[in-house]
Amino acid sequence: MVLKFSEILQAIEGGYRPSKEEILLLLSAEESQMNDLQDAADRVRRKFVGDEIHLRGIVEFSNFCIQNCWYCGLRQENRQVDRYRMTADEIVDVAGRAKSRGLKTIVLQSGEDPWFTRERMSEIISRVKKSTGLAVTLSLGERPEEDYRAWKRKGADRYLLKFETSSQSLFERLRPGRKISDRLNSLKILKKAGYEVGSGNIIGLPGQTPEDLANDVKFSLDYDFDMIGVGPFIPHPQTPLGRSSPGMLTQALGILALTRILTRDTNLPATTSLSVLNPEARRRALQAGANVLMPDVTPWVYRQHYQIYPGKAQAKLEEDELTELIFRLGRKIGRGPGSRKS
Ligand code: SAH
Ligand code: SF4
Repeated sequence: MVLKFSEILQAIEGGYRPSKEEILLLLSAEESQMNDLQDAADRVRRKFVGDEIHLRGIVEFSNFCIQNCWYCGLRQENRQVDRYRMTADEIVDVAGRAKSRGLKTIVLQSGEDPWFTRERMSEIISRVKKSTGLAVTLSLGERPEEDYRAWKRKGADRYLLKFETSSQSLFERLRPGRKISDRLNSLKILKKAGYEVGSGNIIGLPGQTPEDLANDVKFSLDYDFDMIGVGPFIPHPQTPLGRSSPGMLTQALGILALTRILTRDTNLPATTSLSVLNPEARRRALQAGANVLMPDVTPWVYRQHYQIYPGKAQAKLEEDELTELIFRLGRKIGRGPGSRKS
């Protein structure tokens, strides 16, 4: 039997797990159907995670990177980046200020930077944890299992490692020298080590097909991530993909909405890359399933040099602007750490 868009939408809102073909059909929706998809995601969001929007302060503490991802402005071969590393004192200080502004989670993010050894990172995590008590999320790329375990023992709560794309050929083309199996293995190890695991995918990578995207949605659902960042690809001029087209807003919002409907209670951020495409996109994402915002708390002197993609520093909203947006939407700021199962 061939099901129509509205029938599949109704079924998945009720908990039905769609096939890949049905996901493809949902993702090829026309505009009015896309609105229905986003409205359904908004209802599922309200029912399963409520009206709270969790704020995670992100500090981008190093832009050194040994990888050469084709999509990313921080890739090692981009010689035009002014590289910086924040000191342990600076990181602890920023975390303290985030806490005093009422944030409940601090995300420590960097390029893949081996200068931050297991020991150095352990010390930073301990100090942040002891002085603030905040939930600590790490986003440092792929590291050996023993690093993940050591940092967990020091008090890290969550780890953010996007799978980027579930297509092996695309992943391995765009991340030279890296294997998708290692990435997926890291995600498994992180879960086993007791982290809440965040992941996610990039929408609109050059060469990505609608089928790849349907597979990504299925992959997110099967893996049962605690957080999923869905963001469009933004070309960076100083990368091999600099002349490619960006991801499409409606497609990214559609995938976000579908991810909400299917995963039910996962934490879904309204990503900064969405608002690079369109200043209204952050609001639209919050009305299409998203329940997390990530204000940038990186000191201004550094922030401008953390250009994973262009427009990032400018697209970030200050915390007071985010707060205003939350109230305008009739939502509330999360009062706890906003763990998935809390
Ligand atoms: N080095 C770490 C964390 C920093 S990169 C890592 O790679 O995991 C954080 C995320 O930025 C990546 O996971 C990727 O999804 C995203 N990103 C990088 N370049 C991008 C681009 N041009 N457009 C959209 N997202 C991008
Ligand atoms: Fe480095 Fe992460 Fe950028 Fe890849 S995406 S080049 S690992 S910062």
